[in-house]
Amino acid sequence: MLKRIVSFLFTLLFVSLAGSFIFDMSIVVAQMAVKTPVQEPMEQRWALALHGGAGYVSPNMPEERKKRYMAALDSALAIGVDILDQGGSSLDAVEQTVRFLEDNPLFNAGRGAVFTSEGKNELDAAIMDGLQMNAGAATGLTTVKHPISLARIIMEESRHILFAGDGAEQFADQTTVERVESEYFRVPARYEAWKRANESQGYFESSPNNGWKMGTVGCVAVDKTGRLVAGTSTGGMTNKMYGRVGDVPIIGSGTYADDQVAVSATGWGERIMLNVSAHRLASHMRYTGASLNESMYYLVYELLNEGEAGFIAVDRGGNISMETNTGSMFRASQSEGGEKTIAIWK
Ligand code: ASP
Repeated sequence: MLKRIVSFLFTLLFVSLAGSFIFDMSIVVAQMAVKTPVQEPMEQRWALALHGGAGYVSPNMPEERKKRYMAALDSALAIGVDILDQGGSSLDAVEQTVRFLEDNPLFNAGRGAVFTSEGKNELDAAIMDGLQMNAGAATGLTTVKHPISLARIIMEESRHILFAGDGAEQFADQTTVERVESEYFRVPARYEAWKRANESQGYFESSPNNGWKMGTVGCVAVDKTGRLVAGTSTGGMTNKMYGRVGDVPIIGSGTYADDQVAVSATGWGERIMLNVSAHRLASHMRYTGASLNESMYYLVYELLNEGEAGFIAVDRGGNISMETNTGSMFRASQSEGGEKTIAIWK
């Protein structure tokens, strides 16, 4: 009898120990499930593309001049690529790349901007951050050395997106952006181009046959965190009327970024604006499920007409697309682990 009672007690003890062990383990497992975060895929390929304007460039361009363009594109690319490769943000990469191009008088942005019908330089720029869905832009600047940096400050520090003319200059007064005399932007080659355009009443010396004075600059990038940013800077179009605003500072036309793609345009601003081009590319991707290249082809070859514009874009996966229907576009690109591209013609 005693034996039976002892064996019963042992069984009871074993069952209760096993039960509490299983109970404890189930709590541990449950806690592990709560504490272990769902792992986001961290491996993100960075990519960057830049342009120095689309238009028509004769294939007979003097070799020495061609070399200067290629060298400038190469140096600009290296600036953005270094930032991204070291884990920096696409916002910094885009701003610094565009600043470099704004300093180079070969391009129609910052120093080297084209002339208005009044013989002046009025600069436009925009930047958009697809992560924050925020943007900053300025138009009609006359004394800001790096319009892209003012655009970034507008995005980050103001409650507005776009400042124009005197208002933009006044906003700049409250910031630390570098200022220059307006003469700083005038370079002789652009002045001569303007005189020719002005004498012939040409708007921008444009057509695939006679070539227009191009050189707007832009940069798009995705960094290792997947943040997409687009930036564009320009003097606009040669002989533009006083107060004319082009596509560049119009968010969604010349500059756009969201969580899937970043786009920067160059070319005939009015045509780019009428097609709300940069946003059109992004929405084509989003709503049709098309690839970056497919959406780029739709925009450049179906929507727009020959001779009108060129675009650069990168998507979240680090894919790059650069296309123009004008015959040529100064451009360069690189992605993590990928080849470097520097090109002018097709
Ligand atoms: N898109 C610029 C504008 O219309 C000019 C250019 O890209 O060459 O202002």
